Amino acid sequence: MENEYLLLTPGPLTTSKTVKAAMNMDYCTWDDDYKEMTQSIRQSLLDIAKVDSQEYTAVPIQGSGTYGVESVIGSIVPSEGHLMVAMNGSYGERIGQIADVYDIDHVDLKVDEQQPVTAELVKAEISAHPEITHFAMIHCETTTGILNPIESIIPWLKERGIVTIVDAMSSFGGIPIDVKNLDIDFLISSTNKCIQGVPGFSFVIANRSILEASKGTARSLSLDLYDQYQEMEKNHGKWRFTSPTHVVHAFAQALTELKIEGGVEKRYERYLANQRQLTQGMEKLGFKQLIDNEWQSPIITSFRYPSEEFDFAKFYQQLKFAGFVIYPGKISMVPTFRIGNIGEVYQDNISELLEAISQITSATVE
Ligand SMILES: *Cc1c(COP(=O)(O)O)cnc(C)c1O
Repeated sequence: MENEYLLLTPGPLTTSKTVKAAMNMDYCTWDDDYKEMTQSIRQSLLDIAKVDSQEYTAVPIQGSGTYGVESVIGSIVPSEGHLMVAMNGSYGERIGQIADVYDIDHVDLKVDEQQPVTAELVKAEISAHPEITHFAMIHCETTTGILNPIESIIPWLKERGIVTIVDAMSSFGGIPIDVKNLDIDFLISSTNKCIQGVPGFSFVIANRSILEASKGTARSLSLDLYDQYQEMEKNHGKWRFTSPTHVVHAFAQALTELKIEGGVEKRYERYLANQRQLTQGMEKLGFKQLIDNEWQSPIITSFRYPSEEFDFAKFYQQLKFAGFVIYPGKISMVPTFRIGNIGEVYQDNISELLEAISQITSATVE
């Protein structure tokens, strides 16, 4: 069956036919072939992160991206730790919610949703809070499409001995991130974003020595990052508890396809070209990008409503009928909607989308 529409969303996103086909079989979890597949996925993730397996390890965790973030926060920050969370959108806020659930002391660095988290803001806040032991921020804040400048923030924090946690859910695999040179201790992403797999698990690129020192810290059994790591290491790729076998096979295929495309750099170029074509075309049709170009990610774009009369629900339905699924806005201050350009999406698809939008909007004007 053909897809009835193209998902222009930040994940789940449009996957290739071959990724979907990899799920068309029932797999077992305990044999060597399957464990080797998990091991090879873990190694591919380290390669994408540009880290070596002595210093870092990749640990998959069952569940969506939030499960991975929660496993890091709940397994790494000890009860006597002090966390700072930078927030310029709902994913940053979600880390604060997780910290609340685990009763972790946290300072929230709140930034306007339409602005990036900057090094100046972080430095000032850290100076005011010398007790901070752990710092968490979002790379691409999917709420708006802002790309936060981790390059000017994370190394500075590391120099001060602060453990650094980056939610790179919607950027890893689609934007080059030099995890080792940036000194990111824990980076979290998931299967259904830029690596272009299907939803089902998240993964953590973790600094081995900090992870090993965290033994016994976790407050959750199923989200115990250290325990999952130990099982995978001792048992050569064995997951604790049932693993999402179909998702794992689809993800292995997605990683192969990322390599065939030419790796993260090439995928980044495609996403960037998609995004530029999208905003230039939308601008001509009267839709303005919300975020300044300087901070706009090549992943997802927020557009302002073109007028007060704009009926998003109707626009959404018309576009869906034309074969494109977009995303509502997620911020409260300005009425917006969002269009993602990641996944199995190419410049031809963006042209077709722009053509469909042009037809819908000119029909409404008349
Ligand atoms: C998608 C996403 C998440 C995780 O969301 P889930 O719905 O749990 O998969 C977390 N952070 C960011 C920045 C995201 O884009």
